[in-house]
Amino acid sequence: MRELLLVRYGEIFLKGLNRPYFMRALVRKVQHAVKDMGGHVWLHDGRIFVSDFDDLEACIARVTKVFGVHSVCPAVEMEKDDFDAIAEQAIRMTADLTGTFKVSARRSDKRYPLDSPKINEELGYRILNAHPALKVDIHHPDHVVNVEIRDKAYLYVKVVMAYGGMPVGTNGRATLLLSGGIDSPVAGWMIAKRGVQINAVHFHSYPYTSDRAKEKVLDLARILSESCCGIRVHIVPFTKIQMEIHEKCPDEYTTLIMRRFMMRIAERVARQEQSGALITGESIGQVASQTMEALNVTDSTVQMPVFRPVIGFDKTDIIDIAKKIGTFETSSLPFEDCCTVFTPRHPATKPKMDIVLEAEKKLDVDGLIDEAVAGIEIVQV
Ligand code: ATP
Ligand code: MG
Repeated sequence: MRELLLVRYGEIFLKGLNRPYFMRALVRKVQHAVKDMGGHVWLHDGRIFVSDFDDLEACIARVTKVFGVHSVCPAVEMEKDDFDAIAEQAIRMTADLTGTFKVSARRSDKRYPLDSPKINEELGYRILNAHPALKVDIHHPDHVVNVEIRDKAYLYVKVVMAYGGMPVGTNGRATLLLSGGIDSPVAGWMIAKRGVQINAVHFHSYPYTSDRAKEKVLDLARILSESCCGIRVHIVPFTKIQMEIHEKCPDEYTTLIMRRFMMRIAERVARQEQSGALITGESIGQVASQTMEALNVTDSTVQMPVFRPVIGFDKTDIIDIAKKIGTFETSSLPFEDCCTVFTPRHPATKPKMDIVLEAEKKLDVDGLIDEAVAGIEIVQV
């Protein structure tokens, strides 16, 4: 008998002929998540198992963060021939339960002497005898005692829900514009959840933004990385561009022009990283640079699709996700972002494209971008 984790997968289940490809990708991601815990991960009979971990709870915490995993069940694996031993184990596993339960048996070994209804009946009877305070409810039970009869018997009661989604890397790559705020980490997480491997770009305006602000962004990337399997963060020196814009462009257009520079530089990084899209944390109308007109002006600088997964979300919706994925606390630390350093008093909410283009003529756009890109520092988290 041994303890292991039974890993259940979500949407991959829908895949037809490509299913083995997605399964193998998921196994690799689970392996990556537990490799420093001594966990052994294998695929058998359409199920993913993890065994040989040192710390059950820590291992569950890791595996539930792997995109593509639907849920994780701490299970006991035992020889299937000794039904009394199985029943004793089921009685031990239900000792702390209260309320109602049912037994749900699945028998993939059709030669097993008891069929599923018989297993349900017999185990249910023995559990009730051992724990008379429990009641059976086959329609809406508080707990389900699962018994799977395969080459061995597997018993589990607890089901820990995971994030779902698809294994990272099975749906291409994208480049996330990662600020220290609440929205962009959530946006990156949402796209990565769909199986997209992300890398990140952060614009840093030293000395107007401190080294602590940069560390904060790297900390956010580290949190995301638990689900994203490593993120290359490109730190772009942005001070000179901001100073030039501030000096030469109309005040109400500075934020917007700055955002156009961000998009162009991010697209350059994206091409180097072989990304197929950019990701931002913008949401319609949240700030002046996120009105529909302003988004149009920023978008027109790039050829790549720009994914804005939180575009239709209220701030409170975004905060709920940030709390769930563990980025909220770090995002809330009070360090300046480069956007807040040179904020105009009256930013244009209905910007005119011809004014933007006229203003950019005063800048050496290509030269400034080349210089910023040449100064990129890459940090792998
Ligand atoms: P966030 O909470 O992600 O900071 P925000 O509400 O503060 O978003 P803005 O500051 O207008 O919004 O930025 C909009 C988007 O532009 C961000 O979601 C992010 O994708 C990108 N962005 C803003 N500042 C930076 C930065 N310093 N480095 C990289 N990307 C940035
Ligand atoms: Mg911000």
